[in-house]
Amino acid sequence: MKLMTRLTLAAAIALSVATPSPAQEDAYPWRMEEVAPGVFAALQPVESRFDDSNSTVIIGTNEVVVVDTQSDPAAVMSLIDWIGGVTDAPVRLVINTHWHGDHTQGNAIYRDIYGDDLEIIGHSSLEQDVPERAAAFVHERTAYYDAELPAAYNRLEQGVFRDGTPMTDDDKVEQEATLARAEGWLAANRGARFVAPNRTYSMRQRLRRAGRTIDLIHYEGHTRGDTVVWLPQDHIALTGDLLDDLPYTGHGYPTPWRDALAALRDMPIEITVPGHGPVFRDGNKLDAVHGFLNDLIVQATVAAEAGQSLQATVDGIALDSWRDRLASDDIAARFFDQALGEAVERAWLEARGELE
Ligand SMILES: [Zn+2]
Repeated sequence: MKLMTRLTLAAAIALSVATPSPAQEDAYPWRMEEVAPGVFAALQPVESRFDDSNSTVIIGTNEVVVVDTQSDPAAVMSLIDWIGGVTDAPVRLVINTHWHGDHTQGNAIYRDIYGDDLEIIGHSSLEQDVPERAAAFVHERTAYYDAELPAAYNRLEQGVFRDGTPMTDDDKVEQEATLARAEGWLAANRGARFVAPNRTYSMRQRLRRAGRTIDLIHYEGHTRGDTVVWLPQDHIALTGDLLDDLPYTGHGYPTPWRDALAALRDMPIEITVPGHGPVFRDGNKLDAVHGFLNDLIVQATVAAEAGQSLQATVDGIALDSWRDRLASDDIAARFFDQALGEAVERAWLEARGELE
């Protein structure tokens, strides 16, 4: 995921990376699920599953492979600590499933700790997108908070919203919490460094690492540079956000994405570790996301071909039933509603041949 291009300050802060308290930093609440011998899904707590990404850790005799690296330094460090607790082997390969910062920002910490012997691999587009999109986003957001927070504190002190409406006591408590989250995000991200992959591939790459066959398969979908990590001996797919708990379409390509999911459906996948949310052991989520994208594409195409404006298309879209099918709780339902406009825009632009 990585929502955010056009969110208001309050909404952006509300969606921001949860900053662990000092107590959590000692024991970040990862849930480690061994999906095959030596293959561990590192899963975020369910309630904060969209704040930062899952990882997968593949432990071999002489080396460790890590897929996706989070953005929150406390999460990254606690996973590295966990790895050090179960093996003396160093991490020698990081795979990034796509450029979003919640999957790549931690690369810098892995590089610091494991040095130049560590390879970082991703789709070739990440060479550009990590510095120009992931890093740029964090730096812009830092500047935005720095510019906006003093005024936000001022308004809190005066007890009025931006439009002059007075805050209730409950509003003030909520605003204080919001500002504290923003401060936490700034503390974790100020001066953040981004390290792009130093090894790339374009369509498909087979690796033999950590005693396993690891296939990297490129798709365009959630982003232009998605990688599905396929472990053919284990029938495990690590899908990043191409297939995760809830599809985020703001940087996506709806038609290739739908077709990528159809391709995944033809693979003998038994276990899927998604970029966010719990492990899937059946095809229900894949079917639901495929169905949602297909319905989105069909409706947006009909509207675009009828000459409807973007706003009319957004207003007329009827995808609410997918919220119930895709969202397993209120958190996901809220994300679905927040991201729907962007999803419609992407599909409408695509139907008009204007998707960049
Ligand atoms: Zn993502």
